[in-house]
Amino acid sequence: MSGNAYVGRFAPSPTGPLHRGSVIAALASYLDARSAGGTWRLRIDDVDSGRARADAAADIRRALEALGLHWDGPVQYQDPHRDQYEHALERLREKRRAYPCACTRREIAAVASMGPAGMIYPGICREGLPAGRGARSWRFAMPAGTLSFRDRHAGSQSLEAATGIGDFIIRRGDGLHAYHLAMVVDDAALGVTDVVRGGDLLPATFPQLALQQSLDLPTPRYLHLPIAVDPGGRKLSKTNGAPPVDLTHPGATLIDALTFLGQSPAAEIAGAPPREVLEWAVTAWRPAHIPRSSEVRV
Ligand code: GLU
Repeated sequence: MSGNAYVGRFAPSPTGPLHRGSVIAALASYLDARSAGGTWRLRIDDVDSGRARADAAADIRRALEALGLHWDGPVQYQDPHRDQYEHALERLREKRRAYPCACTRREIAAVASMGPAGMIYPGICREGLPAGRGARSWRFAMPAGTLSFRDRHAGSQSLEAATGIGDFIIRRGDGLHAYHLAMVVDDAALGVTDVVRGGDLLPATFPQLALQQSLDLPTPRYLHLPIAVDPGGRKLSKTNGAPPVDLTHPGATLIDALTFLGQSPAAEIAGAPPREVLEWAVTAWRPAHIPRSSEVRV
């Protein structure tokens, strides 16, 4: 790919401070972008305003700056883009790829089967709302067929759309647009060519692909990283209380993340400040050296 065509992004949800797992994702997407001579954007994924924590976005920005992970352009937020998400929903309605749904979670749970990413909606409202029931949410009408993509790290991936995902929610009962819809609209608006993110989001790629195809949006390349787990085997996440990253030694924090990513930090950068660690790492970046296992311990 030629030089500056690459656009990458780091898109944390503002649910807490950066932890080691999110630093690994930020660093990998930064290095992949910078080593390709591309741009690297920061988007705060605050579409789920109920889960957003006051100050988390500022904490994340400060942590990235302390680590020397400087992004290009203004920080993007999702909250001001609600009109664009609604417009995408309208387009899906016009194409008969979206329909209103009256079902409660409890009603669905009583009859639904389970897919790899949760309950598969059994299609109760697909042909119209049951008599006397009002719309609660909006669902994506999943086309039949197989969804496939080639992950730069995990290789070929495919899933049967109807039995693996089904008709998922694109606007929730509380009126908020769902993450998948917001994400594909925003990635396309930013011109993102490459998504580098945690392996826990690999299954989310399938519904996102289906939306991109239905909205005629380009599909970026994907690289899903091994999942960072704590010594007890639990995935590191802000929501399960992973400790914030150590910013008193930012160079060492980066070296720790480089080690996780299989980049074998050179001895000469031990103790170096973030700028020097990153200069070394951009040149040394080898995605093929990222460990295969999806559960490398940190
Ligand atoms: N906002 C999502 C999260 O923090 C990540 C979105 C993405 O990278 O696609 O889990």
